[in-house]
Amino acid sequence: MFRHGHSVIKSVDHSKYFEVKIIPALLDNYMYLIIDRYKKEAAVIDPVEPDRIKEVLDEEVALKLTSVLITHHHWDHAGGNKRLLKLYPDLQIFAADERTEGVTKIIKDRQILKIGNLTVCCMSTPCHTSGDMCFFVTGNHGESPALFSGDTLFVSGCGKIFEGTGQQMYDNMAIMAALPHPTRVYCGHEYTVTNLKFALNEDPSNFDLAEKLQWAHKNRLNSHPTVPSTIEEERRLNPFMRATNATATIALRARRDRFKVKTSRSSGSISSTEVSDRSSGTNSASSGISSNGSH
Ligand SMILES: [Zn+2]
Repeated sequence: MFRHGHSVIKSVDHSKYFEVKIIPALLDNYMYLIIDRYKKEAAVIDPVEPDRIKEVLDEEVALKLTSVLITHHHWDHAGGNKRLLKLYPDLQIFAADERTEGVTKIIKDRQILKIGNLTVCCMSTPCHTSGDMCFFVTGNHGESPALFSGDTLFVSGCGKIFEGTGQQMYDNMAIMAALPHPTRVYCGHEYTVTNLKFALNEDPSNFDLAEKLQWAHKNRLNSHPTVPSTIEEERRLNPFMRATNATATIALRARRDRFKVKTSRSSGSISSTEVSDRSSGTNSASSGISSNGSH
């Protein structure tokens, strides 16, 4: 395990042949390699730093990168596509949005793709951008699911609403919440510490949130990624998944947009412009968050 940028590279075994490699990029982005070890095939999610992907692949004997899955067209996710295509000219670049750099195949909601024996279900989640797509990946026998949620669902948070509505974000959270609870969640950015501070500000007496924040702090001190989480955890802890209606989602997102935290030594990458402002906090009773985490 060695460090690259903001975090160490980490491998997660989903099953005997299904592996996910977490590869940090830029200031707080994540790229992911989805690997079928049996067929020796791989796909990459949001490869904004293609040379870093190549470095990792060069250490892998006989592993073939066949496809690129893009969660949305923003440059910090799709900005490496043309360079990656130069490095690997046979690649297919899948995205839902025609604005995506280098896209070779436009994908639709519920379209099924294959990475070797692994199955990818494309899930349209418009809101952060109008062309956001999440990817639900399962092993050969449907086991060990993984969700690549881009900038739609973060660990204990959700993406900013740039090209959609609060109703769409609420609907997106409901779609994710309905996935199998053990599904591991791999999101687009390392925002977990700030998200958990916001969640605690909303729900100050929530012991589980405090405990997870402590855990996340410890991980970030050692440059360990805080991904993956699970759908079960997000249903329990993520304020946006716990919102009981679209009005609550809109209000929460507005408070999250205004939320700033003190510079944290333990997170290592929080900008100095972030200052303390806990005055906008409300308690869970008034913030439209359900106590049982369900929709
Ligand atoms: Zn984005």
